[in-house]
Amino acid sequence: MSKKKAKWHVNLLTLFPEMFPGSLGMSLSGKALENRVWSYKCINIRDFGQGVHKCVDDTPFGGGAGMVMRPDVIEKALLSAGDPGRKIYMSPRGKLLTQDIVEELATTPKLTILCGRYEGVDQRLLDAHEFEEISIGDYVLSGGEPAAMILMDACIRLLDGVMGNAQTPDEESFSNGLLEYPHYTRPANWKDAKGNLRSIPDVLVSGHHKNIDGWRLDQSELITKQRRPDLWKRYITGKT
Ligand code: SAM
Repeated sequence: MSKKKAKWHVNLLTLFPEMFPGSLGMSLSGKALENRVWSYKCINIRDFGQGVHKCVDDTPFGGGAGMVMRPDVIEKALLSAGDPGRKIYMSPRGKLLTQDIVEELATTPKLTILCGRYEGVDQRLLDAHEFEEISIGDYVLSGGEPAAMILMDACIRLLDGVMGNAQTPDEESFSNGLLEYPHYTRPANWKDAKGNLRSIPDVLVSGHHKNIDGWRLDQSELITKQRRPDLWKRYITGKT
């Protein structure tokens, strides 16, 4: 019997296929992988390398430190995937990954993600195949694999049936342009290791849902204003 086709598929162009599924094979994303809610295929760039040593990189034209991944090698790896769907190159130069982009990618049935190594990839490959560049933040990783995993993790939890009914992304940070309000659970009165008694806000046990919603919104706004002036500015501008 043939396997059910997953609704969300990712091809990964990588020199380290053994890094996948990694953490994506655990917990909710792992269960969803088992249930074929999503699927992935690693394409080992090394398999398309040059010569006996399967070389995938070379020195940069113009000099400078490090090595650059060859366009001819990566192209062969890319073409071996068949229809690539949306092509993404994980790159610190790319547009910053946001929840809006995650939501868009989670509804794109097929992605091909190129994970760079060394100094990165020959620009001509990116131009020739119109790769979108996406960054996970303003810092430099040693390779694109952890970045691809982060992008995939954020998408997978939005796929139908992954989070179940108990959890909903609707009230999470970024979904309404705000960071999330604080959470509390039992015990209602907790003495910390320094002997300080820490209670929870009264409103949360009031049973008054409208007041609870109001308190949560106030907290979300306060936290966003304090921690992320950039988000706050956008939220306020969008509101008025
Ligand atoms: N020379 C590059 C630069 O300065 O922009 C950095 C190359 S980095 C050492 C190797 C690879 O890691 C990149 O090709 C990219 O695939 C990945 N990478 C590093 N930082 C990243 C980030 N912030 N977001 C996404 N991918 C990243």
